Amino acid sequence: MSRKPATPGPRDADASRRTFFALWPDPPARDALAARARDTAVEAQGRAPVAENLHLTLAFLGDVAATRIATLRAIGLAVASAVPPFTLTLDRAGAFRGAGIAWAGASATPPELERLVQLLSGALAKEGFPTERRAFQPHVTLARRCRGPASAGIAAPIAWRVKRITLNASETLPGGPQYHELADWRLGPPA
Ligand code: ATP
Ligand code: MG
Repeated sequence: MSRKPATPGPRDADASRRTFFALWPDPPARDALAARARDTAVEAQGRAPVAENLHLTLAFLGDVAATRIATLRAIGLAVASAVPPFTLTLDRAGAFRGAGIAWAGASATPPELERLVQLLSGALAKEGFPTERRAFQPHVTLARRCRGPASAGIAAPIAWRVKRITLNASETLPGGPQYHELADWRLGPPA
């Protein structure tokens, strides 16, 4: 993967970072999603994310102090080991129209994905992290700043084999968001 590793940089030990748990696609799923994102962006007159930025957010934490990252690492490890790998079939096109976002989603959310999100939000709440109140709507953003509608129809399904979860920090740069992988864990019991 060519994403930038987490850079120590000139940050204070108590600096905070904008943090989220996510699924990052493996190369076959990423390539299929990148092609779909290009088509969607053309159709909706929006901007596709760069391929390496395509992801599905499991839990968004907002700003987290550096001193709390160890707790998130422990949560990631525990949650990942409790859920086996699974296949996520993205067979649905949708949009958050107000936000100008077009996305790919699943008409059926796999129980393993529901479980991942449920375990994460339970563990995060227990550790005092603010959690999302809105219902989880799994999606991969394919285009932003859309000026027109994207197809609401079902395009060819993309079967994504999900084998790991990641903890990420995000930085907003003039050219768009830059995500840094802080940690990743394989799904399923440790070998
Ligand atoms: P940018 O905000 O820089 O344009 P971005 O939205 O991808 O890019 P972040 O805002 O850091 O970057 O968000 C990281 C991930 O968390 C994205 O997948 C985003 O959709 C999701 N996210 C952001 N805010 C929330 C929120 N309040 N609730 C749920 N998910 C969120
Ligand atoms: Mg954002």
